[in-house]
Amino acid sequence: MLTQLQALLSLQEDDVVIHGYEAQLAALEPRMRELDARCERLNQAIGRAEAGVVAEEEKQAFLRDKIAEHRLLIEHNQTAMDAVKTLKQATAAAAQMEQAKRIVSSEESDLLAVNRRLEELRAALAGQRAELATIEAEQEVARNEVAEQRGTIDVDLAKARQSRAAKADVVPAELRSRYDRIRGRKRVEAVFAMRGMSCGNCDTAIPMQRRHTMSTTAAIELCEGCGVLMYFTPA
Ligand SMILES: [Zn+2]
Repeated sequence: MLTQLQALLSLQEDDVVIHGYEAQLAALEPRMRELDARCERLNQAIGRAEAGVVAEEEKQAFLRDKIAEHRLLIEHNQTAMDAVKTLKQATAAAAQMEQAKRIVSSEESDLLAVNRRLEELRAALAGQRAELATIEAEQEVARNEVAEQRGTIDVDLAKARQSRAAKADVVPAELRSRYDRIRGRKRVEAVFAMRGMSCGNCDTAIPMQRRHTMSTTAAIELCEGCGVLMYFTPA
């Protein structure tokens, strides 16, 4: 037959083990989150780059149309020039022609610049897409690894919880609920052996009289310093 204290300490052993498994599960999360965040950032960058490519392609199409239109105008001017009768008409036609040629030449240099930008943007976009593919492949591997680790931990955790449940039944209800309450305050351990004349957790000294009582009755008492349960253990 276990004493209250033995039953409680045995329960705590399981809780510490369970806590360890839960911590292992939690530790798997940041890795996945980090990969997700990288993918997300890259997807956003790709979205921006794609929008940039579309905008430049629109400029490119616009300039190509304009150049075709103005070249046609030059051809018309040429025809008009061939048909002029007077010097005045010839001068006017030549001026028009010059102007049209200047416009086309400026549009052509704009088009060259757009073409260059497009080339750069497309290359950058291809790089980002390749990087995304790499990360997605990494993520696939990581996901499988994590799933495998999680599966193993889940099995161990289920066993530990089963064992814990059986042990919990043995601890008197009132003591167990005090213990659970203390652990509920984000504590891994709630029961500590006294260290000499002090609480084993916070080192608050226990008055001689109380210590004496604890040593003779094997009582499990609350530390007034840190609120854990403590018990006397012979040095
Ligand atoms: Zn204490």
